[in-house]
Amino acid sequence: MTDHRQSSLALVLVFLYCFAGLVFCSAPAEVGAEGSSHALLVPDDLRLPGVGEALLARAAAIATVYAEPPQVPAQLDVLPRPLPTSEPTPAPRVAMRTASFEPCPGIACYRIDIMRTIGDTSLQVDVDTLVFDLAAGRILSLADILLPSPVSLEAVSAIALAQLTEALSGEDEAAHALAARATAPCLGNFARFVLAGDAIVFFFPPATLGGDSVEVKEVRIPYLDLLPHLNIKVGYARAGDAASCLYIETVPPAGAAPIHDGAPALRIALTFDDGPHPAHTALILQELSKRRAVGTFFVIGSRAKDHPDLLRQIVLQGSEIGNHTWTHSDLTRLSPEQITAEIERTQALIEQVTGRRPALMRPPGGFYNRQVIEAAGLPLVMWSIDPQDWRGGDAGSVAQFIVDHAHDGGIVLQHDPRISSYESLGQVLDVLSERGYRFVTVSELLGLEGRTATQGEVWHRLK
Ligand SMILES: [Zn+2]
Repeated sequence: MTDHRQSSLALVLVFLYCFAGLVFCSAPAEVGAEGSSHALLVPDDLRLPGVGEALLARAAAIATVYAEPPQVPAQLDVLPRPLPTSEPTPAPRVAMRTASFEPCPGIACYRIDIMRTIGDTSLQVDVDTLVFDLAAGRILSLADILLPSPVSLEAVSAIALAQLTEALSGEDEAAHALAARATAPCLGNFARFVLAGDAIVFFFPPATLGGDSVEVKEVRIPYLDLLPHLNIKVGYARAGDAASCLYIETVPPAGAAPIHDGAPALRIALTFDDGPHPAHTALILQELSKRRAVGTFFVIGSRAKDHPDLLRQIVLQGSEIGNHTWTHSDLTRLSPEQITAEIERTQALIEQVTGRRPALMRPPGGFYNRQVIEAAGLPLVMWSIDPQDWRGGDAGSVAQFIVDHAHDGGIVLQHDPRISSYESLGQVLDVLSERGYRFVTVSELLGLEGRTATQGEVWHRLK
């Protein structure tokens, strides 16, 4: 931040204060339990590129709306009407109280509470928010968080309405009608939000809920409850612990500069079979998250049904789930109908739990024939790098085999139940990252994303 920019910011502040009677309180408002709260305009915030300017622009817009009585839209004017009097109505004072917090490094969220005072009456009239992706240097809107489909917004709308309806129990019909209107599935209704470590928190100011409501209502929706609709990846240092959130990664807008510029990265897909494992799968996810890597988990349906949370954490982390049949039988010994049943039962379970239908399968033991290929209905994914971890080798030798045999376009085979699956991972990820590898899902490696799955394909590697 140059001296010039600092002084121009100070000038804007003075201008706002004089123009609107604007007050920036230093007392922080609390937003959820995460992170620390502090005042809006502290030097640390201003040093982050773009944040200070964005906040000032937002503050200026708010001040314009609330400072002059004629400019306040009727539906926002919740103050009691003054009785007719010969005395001139005192000018309103607008005060803002702000809180900022970081759910994880790289994401800064701001909540701005707006209070309006006329005479002796002071009420909170609005709340605004700003979510900043510091790495990308851009403000995130809900359109960056959800998949671009009306269905995504409808899902948010339904959950928000259910929560508000519960909070309004005992209120009259009019209050419920307003809640329904405030949560109707349009982006504008959900523009006031912040990101917590494990959830999106939406705010509904008094004006949107009307009636006697004088407080901001919060709706908190866990990421895991929005799984089929999210367009973000969230990684944790400890599974299920919001405070250990390592990153919330958004998809860059179309036309944005690629994150991995420079030399084209080598790509490799790590795959983990026979899970989910009650202890190891979460540890594998943590090792991947610590390095912002993803993998592909070929799960056995009969095991997966007991661990729906693990399936959901795999998807939230950005990793992929593949189908490894329901009973882990040798498919070459089954009838076409039995093969289809093995696959389909597992597909249905995974779709029911995560909202996503696997695009890949791996035949148990790697056994397949023409009949298996035809009956599977999904591309078969084998592997090109097999450390034979099932022989019980220690993590060091498994890791050494993988890095010695790694190649661009390769697919690595490991198994969740082996301890080496997560113990070898740190070394594999570190060494291969150093060599220029990027870790991708099998679908990304093979270019299958967004493509309708075709049967009759068998993949061992990309190239
Ligand atoms: Zn297997």
